[in-house]
Amino acid sequence: MNGHNDRPSQKRFKFSQNGDDHYNKIREERHNLPIYPARGRLISEVQRHSSVVIIGETGSGKTTQIPQFLFEAGINRNSIIAITQPRRVAAITISQRVAQEKRTDLGDLVGYCVRFDDTTSERTKIKYMTDGMLLREAISDPLMKRYSVVILDEAHERTIHTDVLFGVVKQAQHERKKLAMKPLKIIVMSATMDVDHFSQYFNKAPVLYLEGRQFPIRVLYCKEEQSDYLFAALVTLFQIHREAPAQEDVLIFLTGQEEIESMVKSIRDIGQNVPGNTPNLLVCPLYAALPAPQQLKVFQTTPKGCRKVIVATNIAETSITISGVRFVIDTGMVKAKIYNSHGGLDIMKVVHLSQAQAQQRCGRAGRESPGTCYRLYTEQQYEAFKKNTVPEIQRCNLASVVLQLLAMGIHDVVNFDFMDKPSTEAILSAIEQLKLLGALETDADLKLTSLGKLMALFPLDPKLSRVILAAKDHHCLEEILSIVSLLSVDSILYTPQSKREKALAVREKFMSSEGDHITLLNIYRAYKGVNGNKAWCMENFINMRNMQTAFDVRKQLREICMKHSLPLESCGQDTASVRRCLTTGYFMSSAELQKEGEYVSLSTRKTVSIHPSSALFHCKPAYVLYNELVQTTKCYMRDLCVVDADWLYQAAPVYFSKRKPGMHTHA
Ligand code: ADP
Ligand code: MG
Repeated sequence: MNGHNDRPSQKRFKFSQNGDDHYNKIREERHNLPIYPARGRLISEVQRHSSVVIIGETGSGKTTQIPQFLFEAGINRNSIIAITQPRRVAAITISQRVAQEKRTDLGDLVGYCVRFDDTTSERTKIKYMTDGMLLREAISDPLMKRYSVVILDEAHERTIHTDVLFGVVKQAQHERKKLAMKPLKIIVMSATMDVDHFSQYFNKAPVLYLEGRQFPIRVLYCKEEQSDYLFAALVTLFQIHREAPAQEDVLIFLTGQEEIESMVKSIRDIGQNVPGNTPNLLVCPLYAALPAPQQLKVFQTTPKGCRKVIVATNIAETSITISGVRFVIDTGMVKAKIYNSHGGLDIMKVVHLSQAQAQQRCGRAGRESPGTCYRLYTEQQYEAFKKNTVPEIQRCNLASVVLQLLAMGIHDVVNFDFMDKPSTEAILSAIEQLKLLGALETDADLKLTSLGKLMALFPLDPKLSRVILAAKDHHCLEEILSIVSLLSVDSILYTPQSKREKALAVREKFMSSEGDHITLLNIYRAYKGVNGNKAWCMENFINMRNMQTAFDVRKQLREICMKHSLPLESCGQDTASVRRCLTTGYFMSSAELQKEGEYVSLSTRKTVSIHPSSALFHCKPAYVLYNELVQTTKCYMRDLCVVDADWLYQAAPVYFSKRKPGMHTHA
C-alpha cells in the first residue's frame, strides 16, 4: 500500500459533468419522443402476439426506440434483435445514435451490418442491418436461428429485399413453431397508414397505431409546370431565405449524388452574395455515398443566426429524420429502377413520385411546429401521380432474388408466398437468365448447378459472380477481383465541377481504348504501385476513401475465392482475357455498332449511346458490353468494355442463335 500522506480530506479531484450532461440531454430527448408513452402497450402486444404491425409517423421514434424497449423488457431472451433498413446510410447512422443512447461503443451491444461492412460482435444484441444483408444470411440459416425478433422496418418502401424477407421470415416463424424451437417474433413497421395488407399477410397480426405529432403544413403548388426543377428549387430556396428567420431550416429533395453536389455548390456560391441581412447558410448534402462523418453533420443543431439547408435524396423521406426543418422543397422527382422485361435489365431513371411519397416529403416540414411545403409541380401534375409506389419487386429484374431463394432451398419460386406477386413473366425471365448464366440446370426442374451454388455465395449480382467464377478459365482472377471491387463501390474518380477539365486531362494517361473496366484496372494498378499514396490520389483526382473501400471489398471477395479454392492467377498485360471473362456475365447487355454510327442493344434492338464519361466516348468499337443503362435525354450505356462478336457467341450460343450479332458489317 502506498503511504497515506495524501490526506483525502485535503485533496480535490476534478470531476467532469460534460459527459453526463450530454447523456441527460439524450435521455430527455428520448423521453419526449411520441413513442415513449406507448412503451408499455407496445411491449405487451409484442409479448402476446407472434407478429405485430406498427404504424407511426416518421420521427416518432420507431427505429431508434422500439428495439431498445424490447431489449430492456427482455423479449429477445438474450438473443439478437434484427432491425432491417432498406438503406445502408440509415442502418449506419441510426445504429450510431442508438449506441450513443445506450452509452456503449458501436459494435458492442448495438451494431450494424451492411454489405462488406460488419461492425457486430458476439456481444451485439441490437443489430441494424440492410434488408439485403438479412436475406443473404438466410441462405445459410433459413430458420434465422440467431434471432428472436426480426423487425422489418420501413415496410412501406416495399424494396425488393424487404418484400422477399416478408416471405422468408414468415416461413421461418412457421417452421420454428412446427419444430418447437424458440419462437421468432416478427414486427413490421411502416410510416404509412395503408397496412391492412401487412396485417392480413402476417396471419391477421394486430396493428398498433402510434400517436404522432404532426403540425399543420401549408402546401403550395407551382402555378405553371417547371421545365428545370433544379433552377426552380434554387429560386424557391432563396425566396425562403430572404424572408424566414434564422434557424428555420430547409430540406430540399433531389434525385442523386451528382445533382446534389452541384446544387450544394450553387447554393454556397449564391449564398455569399445575397443582399440584405440574411442568416448564414449551412449547406449539408445527404445521400448514400456520402462519407459517414459528413452524413452525421446533418444531425447537428443549427447554430444561432444560421440556417441549415439539407439537400437530400429520398433517404430523408422516411428513413432519416432531421430536426429543425420548417420548409420542404419537393422537386417531385425520384431516381428509380425500372425493369425492362424485354431486355431483362433494369434501367435507372428519374421518374415522378407517387402521391404517397409526396405526402411523406411534405410531412417532414411539420414535425416540431407548423411548416410549409413547396411543391415544384402543379396540382394537376400531382393529381396525375400514381397513388402509391409500385413495389420494387414488381418492377425489377428478379434474377438475384430467384438465385437466393433457390439457394435457400425454396424451389417453387413461382408459387412463393409473396405479399404482392411479381408477374409470372418476370419470374420466368429471371429463371431464363439464370439458365443462360449457367446457374440452373437447363431441364425444367429448378435446380442449381454447382456453378449456381457457387454464384450464390458472393454478395453480388449474379452477373458479377459469374464473371468471378469464369476467371478461372481465363487465368485472370486477380484482375477480375480488382475490377469487380471497383465496380461495387462508389466511384473512385473524383471530378469536382470547378476542376473538371483538369481532372479529365490528368486521368487521360489511365484511359484504355479497351474500355472503362481496363481503365479502372489501370488506375488500380497505378495506385497499388505507389502504395496507396495520398498525394498521388490528390494529384490524379482519385477518391482515396472509395479506393480504400474497394481494397476492403476486394479482400473479402478474395477470401470467398480462397475458401472455395479458386486459383488466384494474374494475366499480366493480357487484358483481352479480362474482357473475355467479363463477356461471360454481361453478354445480355451488349450492343452493336450500326452503319449509321449508332449502337443498338443486342437484346432489345433499341438504340443506346455511349455515355460521355466513358473512355470509349470518342471511339466506335464494333461491339461493346455495358454494366448499366441510364435513361436521361438518351438511353446511355455506362461502364463499357470492347468485346469480340465471337466471344459473345461463345459465352451464350443459345442466346445469340436468336440474336445474331454480326449481321452488319463494319468497315
Ligand atoms: P422513426 O423511425 O419513427 O421515423 P427515429 O427512431 O428514426 O423515428 O427517430 C427518432 C428521433 O431520433 C428523431 O427525432 C431523430 O431526429 C433522432 N435521431 C435519429 N438518428 C439520430 C442521430 N444520428 N443523431 C441525432 N438524432 C437522431
Ligand atoms: Mg424509422
